[in-house]
Amino acid sequence: MQSEGLKIILSGPSGSGKGTIVKELIKEDFRLSISATTRKPRIGEENEVHYFFKTVEEFEEMIEKDELLEYANFCNNYYGTPKSFIDKSVEEGKDVILEIEVQGAMQVKSVYPDAIFVFIMPPNFEELKSRLIGRATETDDVIEVRLKRAEDELQMYREYDYIVINDRLEDAVDHIKQIVQAEKLKSYRYKSYIENMLKK
Ligand code: ADP
Ligand code: 5GP
Repeated sequence: MQSEGLKIILSGPSGSGKGTIVKELIKEDFRLSISATTRKPRIGEENEVHYFFKTVEEFEEMIEKDELLEYANFCNNYYGTPKSFIDKSVEEGKDVILEIEVQGAMQVKSVYPDAIFVFIMPPNFEELKSRLIGRATETDDVIEVRLKRAEDELQMYREYDYIVINDRLEDAVDHIKQIVQAEKLKSYRYKSYIENMLKK
């Protein structure tokens, strides 16, 4: 049965480990949606691999041309999901991961209520702080802004279908794989399969 690919939305506070989890998932049969952003590349980040790095003008042109499935302003930068890759992946039956923050996730929910919404949590706030400090990709000021933002984001957990606590990385990755497997067995996804069977 060739069915549409799933859209898996991963959100969670900065530093909770979304990127690390995604790196493991894409070793398997998952595609990752590459976002556009106006944030400056971190050391080691490549254009068109980690993000499509854009100027504010370029990003606003993408908005005007309706090229984005969703977009949001996060800590003073734009981030958004190009539509074309998602449409293509889903049509090809590939499961696609969108690693996006909560405002964007809610926009996706209004367009695709059947997407799977997973919220990644750190084990606790101290660990979140120490992961952000340990990652050493942001200045202290930006870390403070992101931690403040994390408190607001955590309030949004109810909007998500699943919570995954990223304490041991392997467990978190396994939990996401289990979620996806269970979602694929949902009865409503078998509508046309069963209809076809009954035709014979
Ligand atoms: P996010 O993408 O959510 O901002 P990252 O994936 O960049 O977070 O992770 C933040 C930091 O925490 C990184 O330095 C990463 O190596 C580390 N990290 C991620 N997951 C774990 C984990 N389960 N245990 C310990 N450290 C982790
Ligand atoms: P970072 O700057 O750490 O790469 O990302 C900051 C935040 O932006 C993270 O929460 C990340 O999930 C989110 N983000 C990345 N890409 C997108 C996107 O396309 N849309 C939205 N709404 N958020 C995104």
